[in-house]
Amino acid sequence: MKNIAIFGSTGSIGKNALSVIRRFPDKFRVVGLSASSDIRGLYSQIKEFHPSFVCIRDKESAFKLKKGLGSKIRVYSTDEGLIQFAQEKSIDQSLFAISGSAALAPLISSIASGKDIALANKEALVMAGPLIMRMAKKAKVKVIPIDSEQSAIWQCLYGQDRVRLKTIYLTASGGPLLNESDASLRRVSLLKVLKHPRWKMGKKITVDSATLMNKGLEFLEAMFLFNVSHKMIKVLIHPQALVHSMVEFVDGVVLAQLSKTDMRIPIQYALSYPDRLNGFSPGINFYNLKALNFSKPDCLRFPCLSLAYQAAKELGSLPAVMNAANEVAVSKFLSERIKFMDIPKIVAKVMRNHRNNKAPGLNDILKADVWARQEAYGLA
Ligand code: MG
Repeated sequence: MKNIAIFGSTGSIGKNALSVIRRFPDKFRVVGLSASSDIRGLYSQIKEFHPSFVCIRDKESAFKLKKGLGSKIRVYSTDEGLIQFAQEKSIDQSLFAISGSAALAPLISSIASGKDIALANKEALVMAGPLIMRMAKKAKVKVIPIDSEQSAIWQCLYGQDRVRLKTIYLTASGGPLLNESDASLRRVSLLKVLKHPRWKMGKKITVDSATLMNKGLEFLEAMFLFNVSHKMIKVLIHPQALVHSMVEFVDGVVLAQLSKTDMRIPIQYALSYPDRLNGFSPGINFYNLKALNFSKPDCLRFPCLSLAYQAAKELGSLPAVMNAANEVAVSKFLSERIKFMDIPKIVAKVMRNHRNNKAPGLNDILKADVWARQEAYGLA
């Protein structure tokens, strides 16, 4: 029996994780649940899964929960509380489904207290990847990715000698705007951006998929997770989104991972690794498959990807700055204060104004993050 704590249980990944756990009550037990603000969602999950401790960010909500739950369940609140929640003794594996940079502090706290990690959040790694991976190595903690591409690479590399790895092919469906003209990209509506053709996800990541920043973040994520240089990763547009990524070895052999576009698949693998458990649906029907296409992404139409390449080349505090500026720009776009193509403009400008710190510590990274947010807020 594995004891699981879910960070961000009321979001899209969190709910999918619970639907995996629900199917294997003899393998996984939920010991902790955390949510940002959805108190009703959290309450119904508590009633179903009976965790030993929970966390809700808002103090007042935490007070209400305490009253409703009695003394059997420990209730944490605020960002500080989440850091303590992360250190609860009974946790075997912490599943990070919080989106954005808010995951960084509780993730570091989990690793420091020796919990294995199942990681869906990509922003924390993008901000502080080298630091996090060093900490994980020291604490002998496994960081198992949930992001479908990283999970694919993880699966393809299983049992392989890493020094024989030559290239990682990171695939991208291309998002909902893959075939839009320049002119229509400039005036595309929020509604259209939020309609992803292949994946049902949270809003932030859906916008990131449309700008291809999501692939840019994954590019950085893969560098840190698999300890490879930016020169070893190639992004491929693959509209069918069946090949979730591939690896090529020195002998020219390529291994690919294919599965349906269902986040429960990589979530389940991150929980059961290295074992495999029964899936939710039959696999791919190859007889109905017409084609698998691959092409090079267009960085001119999707400038966020080339900004990420630049951050990947320069590293230091630049990836954190890019990530922070992007979070602000995306939230502005979601509240319809800027246009779609203003997102890369804002990110580019903040990155240009940043003096890169080549060997940042955690504090430098957090400072760069705050600085970049202020810069991005200041821009139109
Ligand atoms: Mg992904």
